[in-house]
Amino acid sequence: MITAEIKHKIRSVVGPENALDSEIDRFGYSYDSSFLPLSRETRPELVVRPATTAEVAEVMAIANDQGIPVTPRGAASGRTGGSVPLQGGISLSLDRMTRIIELDEANMMVTVEAGVRTIDLYNHCAAKGFFYPPDPGSWKYSTIGGNVAENAGGMRAVKYGVTANYVMGLEVVLADGTILQTGGKAQKNVTGYDLKALFTGSEGTLGIITAALLKVLPMPKKRGTIQVLFGSLDEGCKTVQRMLAEGVVPASAEIMDRLCLDAVAKLGKLNFAPEIKACLVIEIDGEDAAALSAQAQRIETLAKGCGAMAFRVAQSEQESDELWTVRRQISSAVAALAPHRLSEDISVPRASFPEVVRRIQAISAASGFPIAVFGHAGDGNIHPSVLCDMNQPGEPERVHKAIDEIFAAALAVGGTLSGEHGIGMTKRPYITQALGEAGVKTLMAVKKSLDPQGILNPGKIW
Ligand SMILES: Cc1cc2nc3c(=O)[nH]c(=O)nc-3n(C[C@H](O)[C@H](O)[C@H](O)COP(=O)(O)OP(=O)(O)OC[C@H]3O[C@@H](n4cnc5c(N)ncnc54)[C@H](O)[C@@H]3O)c2cc1C
Repeated sequence: MITAEIKHKIRSVVGPENALDSEIDRFGYSYDSSFLPLSRETRPELVVRPATTAEVAEVMAIANDQGIPVTPRGAASGRTGGSVPLQGGISLSLDRMTRIIELDEANMMVTVEAGVRTIDLYNHCAAKGFFYPPDPGSWKYSTIGGNVAENAGGMRAVKYGVTANYVMGLEVVLADGTILQTGGKAQKNVTGYDLKALFTGSEGTLGIITAALLKVLPMPKKRGTIQVLFGSLDEGCKTVQRMLAEGVVPASAEIMDRLCLDAVAKLGKLNFAPEIKACLVIEIDGEDAAALSAQAQRIETLAKGCGAMAFRVAQSEQESDELWTVRRQISSAVAALAPHRLSEDISVPRASFPEVVRRIQAISAASGFPIAVFGHAGDGNIHPSVLCDMNQPGEPERVHKAIDEIFAAALAVGGTLSGEHGIGMTKRPYITQALGEAGVKTLMAVKKSLDPQGILNPGKIW
């Protein structure tokens, strides 16, 4: 319970207009993009919007002193309930910390506050000829703090890696309000434990990320988009494997099944021939048009060798946008197919992608739930979406059984519960199955030493 006196203390730190407790504000900060049912239980008592690291530190010191739960929040685009304040307390929004502090061109690094939107960082760097590659589908609204806290991936991960590959340093406010600076601009650094790696992907449970030092690359000079259509998902997966084995590394290789194509076709004026069962959208990049054309030719040969039925290279930016629209619309198009959609994020060894997709298709047939499959084929990250109506009697139990089976299929081939969305609330029950007792005990030990009172994002991960 946050008393009037504590609210007054917090308001004197961040200003009265940045510590909100009206019903509507509390409601607005009670959910994220995870499709979890809305609940009064998850409303924060107070929404706090600090503007500086010093303010975050003061708020954390008060919260720690009073034992108040604190749930950090970026843009709430998370898919696993991470920024939902499960135990009330404070919803700590970083949305006012939006400064791009420095683009150090000589060292090719950029320093940003946690609330900077991913796309704003990308555009800022691009204007100077630099490239910040991580591009989660949510990049128009997700924040860098949220990306680091979830170790977000994106479509370009196959060639350029995920957020962790770009984190050189972090500023973190610890549970007791201490400000920690970790990492830096030196390329090599083996001085004690790698704390920036520890906080990356920690889902707001170990500290509040207030700023990040991120590596950038030179912007690729040319980009091209290719669409390949197949008679089976297997052929699409095989094509990606062959490309990588032959050293043709695309910037992105996104695959989608027929259900996804039908969903997108419903939204636009698209038409896919009945024999098409899968589509690959590939981005390639390179130095010049000749390099791109050579890559495209090699991909065409490989794809046709794997059974591709149609191969199209975009000839203009507009055509490229059209091809990418199919991929970008999947999430909302699939969601429109049923009253509810439970979207998962398993990641499997690349070679097992086709096998796991076949298992998911078998789970769909046995359970009766349509399951749309799309994902980042280049890095083995599959997003199966179970379409259902959770209001039907017995449906939630049957859906969860299907999801249990999907996780089991991923773990059976050495895969993981999450490639990029994290554990949050939704995957908590499976964490021991994935990490084993020793793994969970070790994580707990880290958590206890950094947050002994358990005030940081309680109820998440375990
Ligand atoms: C349409 C759509 C597409 C998506 N596509 C992708 C994708 O391609 N790849 C991908 O990886 N994810 C994707 N996501 C998931 C989501 O966008 C990412 O996890 C993103 O990184 C979350 O950023 P956010 O700012 O919205 O964070 P939030 O959702 O607000 O928070 C996410 C987690 O991070 C914690 N957190 C937030 N800010 C901080 C901070 N400053 N310090 C400490 N902890 C913090 C929160 O407590 C929470 O646990 C997608 C989501 C949507 C809705």
